[in-house]
Amino acid sequence: MTTSTTTQSTTTNKPARPLTRIVPAASTIEGGGFEVYRPFPGSVIDWLDPFLLLDEMAPNHQKPGEAIGAPPHPHRGFETVTYVLQGEVEHRDSAGNHGVIGPGDVQWMTAGDGIIHSEMPSTRLQTDGGVLHGLQLWVNLPASLRRTTPKYQGLPADQIASVDGDGWKAEVVAGSMFGVRGPAATHTPVGYARVTVQPGSTLRIQTPDRQTALVYAFDGVGVVGDESQRLEAHHLAVFDRTGGDIALAVPADEPTALDCIVLTGEPINEPMARYGPFVMNTTGELEEAINDFNAGRMGSIPATGTT
Ligand code: MN
Repeated sequence: MTTSTTTQSTTTNKPARPLTRIVPAASTIEGGGFEVYRPFPGSVIDWLDPFLLLDEMAPNHQKPGEAIGAPPHPHRGFETVTYVLQGEVEHRDSAGNHGVIGPGDVQWMTAGDGIIHSEMPSTRLQTDGGVLHGLQLWVNLPASLRRTTPKYQGLPADQIASVDGDGWKAEVVAGSMFGVRGPAATHTPVGYARVTVQPGSTLRIQTPDRQTALVYAFDGVGVVGDESQRLEAHHLAVFDRTGGDIALAVPADEPTALDCIVLTGEPINEPMARYGPFVMNTTGELEEAINDFNAGRMGSIPATGTT
C-alpha cells in the first residue's frame, strides 16, 4: 500500500478544494428488507472511481426476534467496507471468517476471486432487539487484483487511529489523514475517516491531489468548500479531483455536531462492468462470475457448530 502523507491544518490562505456538487442519497430497500440511504450509484452518479457504492444503513429498529439483514449472497471483484455506528453486525463467509462488529468497529472484506457472505444483526441484537445503523462502502480493485484471494480484516474501534483538535475529532480507518495513519491495508491508495465537528468549529483536511475526494454526512448539518455550501445529513459532497484541502465547518447556531465520513481514493482508470454483487472489467468476465456462482464455485458458508 502506498499513500501520501498528509497533515491537518486549521489556518491556510490557500483556496479550498473546489466543490463539484452535493448529491442527496436516495432511500431504497436492501437485503432482507432494511432501508438504506444511497448517494451512489443512482440517477445522478454511477460511481466515483475507485468507489462503486456507498450505503448508509438507516437507523433500523429491530424488534426482539427479528433478523433483518443480508442473508448469504456472493461478491467478486472488489472490497466491501462496513463501519458500524450503532448496534452489532455479524459476518460469516465462505472463506471461514466470522466476526461480530459493534459501534466504531470496521470490517474490510476483500471479495476478490469470489466469496459468499452473510451480514446480519448479531445474535444478541436478534434476541433483544435494538437499533442497527452503519455504513457500507464498495471499493473497486484493478484488473490485476480482481481475483485475488479473499481476505477479511476485522478492525476493532480501539485499533482505529483517533485524533482530535479544537471542536473536532476523527477516527482514521485507512490511509493518512490528520497526520495519522489508519490500520486498514488497502490495495490502492484509499483514505477513510469518520469526522465529528462541533457547532462553531472549522477545519481544513489535507487530501492527496488528483484523487477522488468525498464527504458523506449522516448526522447534523455542516458547510463545505470556500462558498460554505450547506451539507445536510444523508447528502454527499463531491469535490474536484484537482486537489486542495477540504474545507468543513459547522455554523455556531446548529444544535448538534456534524457526523460524517471523509473518503479519498486514487482513481483506477479502467473500464468497469457490474451486475448486482459482481464487479469486473468486461461483460464477459461478469458472465463468468455468474456462471461460477451458479456452479457453486464461490463456496458456501460453513455450518455453524453448536456450543
Ligand atoms: Mn455483501
